[in-house]
Amino acid sequence: MKIHEYQAKRILAAHGVPVPKGVAVTTAAEAGKAAAELGGKVVVKAQIHAGGRGKGRLVATQARTAAMYRRLEADPAATEGAVVGRRVGGVRLAPSAARAQAEAAKILGKFLVTHQTGPEGKQVQRLLIEEQSAIADEYYAAVLIDSALGTPVMIVSTEGGQAIEEVAERTPEAIVRVPIDPEAGFPAYRGRQLAKQLGMPKPVVMRAGALFAGLYRAFLAADASLAEINPFVVTDDHRVLAVDAKVSIDDNAAFRQPVASLRDKSEENAMEIMAEEAGIGSYVKLDGNIGCMVNGAGLAMATMDTIMLAGGEPANFLDIGTVNRVQLVEDALHIINLDPSVRAILINIFGGMARVDVVAEGLVSAVNKHGIAHPIVARLNGSNVEEGRRIIEASGLEFLLADDLGTAARMAVEAAG
Ligand code: GDP
Ligand code: MN
Repeated sequence: MKIHEYQAKRILAAHGVPVPKGVAVTTAAEAGKAAAELGGKVVVKAQIHAGGRGKGRLVATQARTAAMYRRLEADPAATEGAVVGRRVGGVRLAPSAARAQAEAAKILGKFLVTHQTGPEGKQVQRLLIEEQSAIADEYYAAVLIDSALGTPVMIVSTEGGQAIEEVAERTPEAIVRVPIDPEAGFPAYRGRQLAKQLGMPKPVVMRAGALFAGLYRAFLAADASLAEINPFVVTDDHRVLAVDAKVSIDDNAAFRQPVASLRDKSEENAMEIMAEEAGIGSYVKLDGNIGCMVNGAGLAMATMDTIMLAGGEPANFLDIGTVNRVQLVEDALHIINLDPSVRAILINIFGGMARVDVVAEGLVSAVNKHGIAHPIVARLNGSNVEEGRRIIEASGLEFLLADDLGTAARMAVEAAG
């Protein structure tokens, strides 16, 4: 689960990481008031669940986000001039409270497009108003799970404020990776060693060491899959500060995190939320045009692979699990059909504990109720398959039935055109 920068900073601050003073607001008037309280000279920062905001672009309507995204993709140099302070991106320096209010008015409600938002962009509904930091140097620090090692790893770099993937490609020697033994943790002395290794000036080593240790504590406490500070900065007077922050919470730990106060559903995919509310365990929106409904995560993976092998692209991952509820199947097909990029639908059910007749009833009912016009290819097998096929035949609806997955995938790819 992603959260906003201002929320990530609260978590970091609670674990001893210094962050600039700031206030999250939703209106321009509030932004002006917050800026005045912070002394006038502030940074106005769009709060969206995507990075690259400083080099992003704002557009007035969603109709224009895709064109802007293509422009940014086609010409990375176009974003190079878009530094902070120039009035184009989602991070702006304001010299006074009045200017902060004016900037806020220009940003709120607009769509911010960055290399991380995708073509849809993200509408800005909230801003973080923060005191400005006098930046001398920018660094990078993150903790995440190294799945090969099976432990957390701290990653730091002298090249802060840029996309870490690009740093890794250009200057891999500028990145230091430190595996962390979870039993030993990451105490401040190890942080100080790391700061020395980065060549930080003496007065800073102590503070940076504490920042690294605090980052690790925050990572643990938030059950994070990623806790990233890009950049953390050294100020003119040798203080360290987390100027940006990103924390992603492991969904498997959501039950023990304050999700209700951290989650912002308006940032999430509307269809994924619908699926969740319908009780569908896992629906993930993808980029292709063949909608899929499968029972079982492994079978769903295999189904997506088989679609790709047949030359197509899945529009979603959807595991309906062990279905024995007609309504669930009906809702699942309805949600797949709501996706505007879907051109054909592939149902792949291998009934074990799930019953094919229940699935068939749900499919028929969804088509009748929601007027689903896309070609539907169904490969049905397993428990009660004869009854299931009978239900489909009796419905008089035009399902394309296939006996095996390979055939079904080829039929779906052809039907999607
Ligand atoms: P991102 O573009 O979404 O990663 O947003 P950041 O919060 O990282 O801001 C982008 C860049 O803006 C940072 O790398 C800094 O260089 C700059 N920046 C952010 N806050 C301040 C500030 O208080 N003062 C100055 N001078 N620059 C800032
Ligand atoms: Mn950043």
